[in-house]
Amino acid sequence: MAIIRFKALEEVMNRKPVKVESISDRVSDYFGSNVYSLDKMKDTLPKGVVKKVEEAIEKGMKIDRTTADTIASGMKNWAIKEGATHYTHWFQPLTGSTAEKHDAFFELTPDGEKLEKFKGSALVQQEPDASSFPNGGIRNTFEARGYTAWDPTSPAFIMETISGKTLCIPTIFVAYTGEALDFKAPLLKSLAAVDRAATAVVKEYFDKNVTKVTATLGVEQEYFLIDKALYQARPDLMLTGRTLFGHSPARGQQLDDHYFGSIPSRVQNFMIEMERESHKLGIPLSTRHNEVAPGQFECAPIFEEGNLAVDHNQLLMDVIEKVAEKHNFKALLHEKPYAGVNGSGKHNNWALSTNTGKNLLQPSSKAKENLQFLVFFVNTIKAAYEHADLLRASIASASNDHRLGANEAPPAIMSVFIGSQLTTVLDELEKSATVKIDKGDNMYMKLGIDKIPEIFLDNTDRNRTSPFAFTGNKFELRAVGSSSSCAAPMTVLNTIMADQLDQFKIAVDKLIDKGEKKEVAIISVLRKYIKDSKNIRFEGNGYGDEWVKEAKKRGLSNIKTTPQSLDAYKSKSSKELNLKHGIYSEAELEARHEIKLENYTMKIQIEGRVMGDLAINHIIPTAINYQNKLIQNAKGLMDLKVDKKVYQGTIDTITEISEHVSAIKENVHSMIEARKKANKIEDTSKQAIMYCEEVKPYFEVIRKHADKLELMVDDEDWPLVKYREMLFLR
Ligand code: ADP
Ligand code: MG
Repeated sequence: MAIIRFKALEEVMNRKPVKVESISDRVSDYFGSNVYSLDKMKDTLPKGVVKKVEEAIEKGMKIDRTTADTIASGMKNWAIKEGATHYTHWFQPLTGSTAEKHDAFFELTPDGEKLEKFKGSALVQQEPDASSFPNGGIRNTFEARGYTAWDPTSPAFIMETISGKTLCIPTIFVAYTGEALDFKAPLLKSLAAVDRAATAVVKEYFDKNVTKVTATLGVEQEYFLIDKALYQARPDLMLTGRTLFGHSPARGQQLDDHYFGSIPSRVQNFMIEMERESHKLGIPLSTRHNEVAPGQFECAPIFEEGNLAVDHNQLLMDVIEKVAEKHNFKALLHEKPYAGVNGSGKHNNWALSTNTGKNLLQPSSKAKENLQFLVFFVNTIKAAYEHADLLRASIASASNDHRLGANEAPPAIMSVFIGSQLTTVLDELEKSATVKIDKGDNMYMKLGIDKIPEIFLDNTDRNRTSPFAFTGNKFELRAVGSSSSCAAPMTVLNTIMADQLDQFKIAVDKLIDKGEKKEVAIISVLRKYIKDSKNIRFEGNGYGDEWVKEAKKRGLSNIKTTPQSLDAYKSKSSKELNLKHGIYSEAELEARHEIKLENYTMKIQIEGRVMGDLAINHIIPTAINYQNKLIQNAKGLMDLKVDKKVYQGTIDTITEISEHVSAIKENVHSMIEARKKANKIEDTSKQAIMYCEEVKPYFEVIRKHADKLELMVDDEDWPLVKYREMLFLR
């Protein structure tokens, strides 16, 4: 058995970097070459048709069938010219990954004539086999069919695989009855909601020329690379995405020094190709790839419109995995593949931008613009405060639980970091009893608002431990897991912001109606918000135990596990919020809650099975084999009639091995019993909680004993690739 491990290690020793052929030195030569962009449409389609697409993107206008036919034809001609043979509706079902069903462009009729299959109707709508995707009960109660419908706001692209090229058309995925079965439909609705609410505020109070506000998003993506052979020698990694066993390097990642500095050329080549493939797909990856932990990497694109950024992140994960494969790596997107080593996240950098090109979260040196900045800044904090539990739920998953609330992870408390300068600004604004407006710009001086521009100078005021941090001109939601879709958390963020801005506007208008001056009204509402939401602001160490105590005093939630956190989806306030803004219907909320719970249970169930199998069939037999060697040795020494002192140590080890083996057996047995009990529970929520509270705790105990055995057993005999072997990339 141990053979697999050593075979894999030998394979790694003989690896050569995979060559990457250069296409061009200039990225602009191939950037977006696989995308059917507006520019390409302009080259191939009549002006009027292009205009309709632009209107669809900007104003959400519907595209009629005749127009769709023309677009389909242009798109098809372009795709075929580029070498595509198939097309597919590309969508984001609630599994968290992406899905496709490929159809050929052409079909031969029996008399040998070519039949064109891709018409406007095939562009606009399709009916994939909906039964193979999670629906949370929606289709059981209504009608089994599901449709994908074209989303013209995200451009079609060509996906290159070893087997050929496919035209991918971004779509939403809905049930026959209209309920969303994907991540994209609610995201688009939330983007429209925040656009409407933010535009109303800006237009009315600050700038009449603003007609649209776009939520922008830039996603930093972290991931690990491991050699493919080593990955294949770890059944736990293959089946669960993380190592369920393995003695971890001591805390503090002391392997560090050894690593940082030189990226092996195998990894470098992977990165060059990964970036190039991303660029061809129009993903604006900026060339930056830090090493974070051993074997861990990070990349970030330049931010884009929210929907496109979410699509691009989904695509990027795909590209990372595919290109890694080609370079004999396996990319691990799991949030915590290795115990004792940093986890991986996805930092969602979010801001709001007007059609006039202004970032509403950009502080300015001009007083009026700064008031506008403060409006959006304070309202974001207030929104996060009011709906912290919903934000928490939106990032919850079995794998992300390892990054929040777990032993080695920071507490699962939602807090907002804004830096010392902005803290001073808000504190001053909160304190000052009266607001004078007759001195023009000077009133802002009094409020300390003039201090805001300083953050340009002091952009180093960072707090890496905050789950939601203001970083100069954007908020950064860092709690999102590395493997998850950004859509759910971004949907929540956009929606709570839309709702918050609506309430803000109502409150300000009320004061204005009472005769208050606009600025006074705005400031007085902001001051109330600053006070109300103060408790969510935290500038200290978010990872410390002190914060847990402090947060409790402040009344902030600290919901450690997924099953519990998901309740927020079904809370009264969540229902009101989502129904009011038309993001989710009640049935959709129920369905999502259900799917997330099922997913959680399934993940823990699989981990439990793999754990039991590895422990009983791999680890215990290895330990016993080794123990037998020791027994032989002790016997031999006894035969020699040497002093007992000589073999006492061996006897102790033999006993210790037995103790660990018994402990593993006992705990695996109890875990299986707990699983059986959990499997009998019908209520999805109770079942997930049972898996979380009664099954999962065994993992740690079993692992502890197995990891002890790893330290005792002869290295030659140990079946599982060890941490030091996985984390060192060659
Ligand atoms: P840092 O986290 O060190 O500030 P960057 O400045 O490179 O790193 O930004 C991180 C991410 O934030 C990038 O993807 C960047 O494009 C994105 N970003 C920058 N400005 C905005 C914005 N206005 N809206 C959304 N994302 C933004
Ligand atoms: Mg960051």
